[in-house]
Amino acid sequence: MFENLQDKLDRAFKVLKGQGSITEINVAETMKEIRKALLDADVNYKTAKTFTDQVKEKALGANVLTSISPGQLLTKIMNDELAALMGGEATELDLKNNPTIILIAGLNGAGKTTFTGKLALHLKSKGKKPLMVAGDVYRPAAVDQLKVLGEQIDVPVYANTESKDPVAIALEGIEEGKKNNNNVVIIDTAGRLSIDEALMAEISDVKAQTKPHEILFVVDSMTGQDAVNTAKVFNDRLDFTGVVLTKLDGDTRGGAALSIKSVVDKPIKFIGTGEKMDALDVFYPDRMASRILGMGDVVSLVERAQQQFDEQQAAELQKKIRKNKFDFNDFYNQIQQIKKMGNMKDLMGMIPGVGKMMKNVDIDDNAFKSVEAIIQSMTPFEKENPDAINPGRRARIARGSGTKLEDVSKLLKQFEDMRKVMKQFSNPAAAAKLMRNMP
Ligand code: GDP
Repeated sequence: MFENLQDKLDRAFKVLKGQGSITEINVAETMKEIRKALLDADVNYKTAKTFTDQVKEKALGANVLTSISPGQLLTKIMNDELAALMGGEATELDLKNNPTIILIAGLNGAGKTTFTGKLALHLKSKGKKPLMVAGDVYRPAAVDQLKVLGEQIDVPVYANTESKDPVAIALEGIEEGKKNNNNVVIIDTAGRLSIDEALMAEISDVKAQTKPHEILFVVDSMTGQDAVNTAKVFNDRLDFTGVVLTKLDGDTRGGAALSIKSVVDKPIKFIGTGEKMDALDVFYPDRMASRILGMGDVVSLVERAQQQFDEQQAAELQKKIRKNKFDFNDFYNQIQQIKKMGNMKDLMGMIPGVGKMMKNVDIDDNAFKSVEAIIQSMTPFEKENPDAINPGRRARIARGSGTKLEDVSKLLKQFEDMRKVMKQFSNPAAAAKLMRNMP
């Protein structure tokens, strides 16, 4: 995400590197580079110009502190301004109504149906009881697609393939939701290949009749400036409440994320980062700004980890570690937890400084495969008693898992080392000692 822009901004900052102070001249030069970087990322000209003018003004007016370099100061200003450009604070969905009605709008292929499923899953994980309504009357496949997603995430879907009337289907869906105590009704609507009057009239009609509390406009971030223009047309007609930018995992240059707020003055509420149902993130402008500047996104990383974190399980694990009873079953479970957090490369990319380094490195989700195979080839006794895995057992495990004897031995050694460190950390006094001895 945004690698190109990151590279170019890095280069722009280089102008200031090694300079002792911020001057009219070096700032002007840096701003020229930054503006170029933004235009290359497909940010519209006016937005880029206003943005760099503001950054320049702030940089020149900033108090010069001896403790930070001009480059650092500018990074901070850029970070704040980028966050402001993308909307400042994160904007939550308004979910207080029962049922809350959410209308999903956008062009064909933008990712509406996929997002409908992702949103339902997201809300479900927050304790809501959503119903999805299949309102795409033109594409029978869209109805099936939603039904499949519904089954996958275990969320009910209301569909009526007999009807060709989107308003009627939406109203029926809402009634169905009320009947079944669904507190959120998400209505997926039909798109078109491009903006046309019929589509606009139809969706306006659905809006007028269903009186949604949220209208989310879904747009493919890969379409760059087109995304921004489409957003403008939809917003003029629908006055939507938020934007969903999809496909930010792809080769997008990021222009849509940076310009949409300033053009339509509506917040980006979610971003789609993959085809799977859990590839959805709440949009935090400040975190995204840090990510664009290569400052990483530790907060998102921590949040994702927390989502997967089961407190009770963690307490049990702690107890086992203290008693030095952490075994291969626990280790295997930990790997599954890490895998649930998402694609390894994405996760690494969130760590400051690592994102760029990892750009060309191919880590895939198979990274754990051989470790998993080795553990799976152990008997239940061996998993619980790693110390009992003697050379004979190692050879059998290697054969069973299709790995080499060295691989098994290496894993056992790493496991033992890990256990030692874990044990030390579970004892506060020993942990403190360990920390003091660190370089
Ligand atoms: P709709 O016509 O607007 O309902 O679009 P769909 O939901 O059918 O999505 C169109 C295509 O984009 C499908 O192949 C989706 O899997 C894909 N897609 C949707 N969202 C994302 C995303 O965030 N990332 C990626 N890589 N693909 C996505």
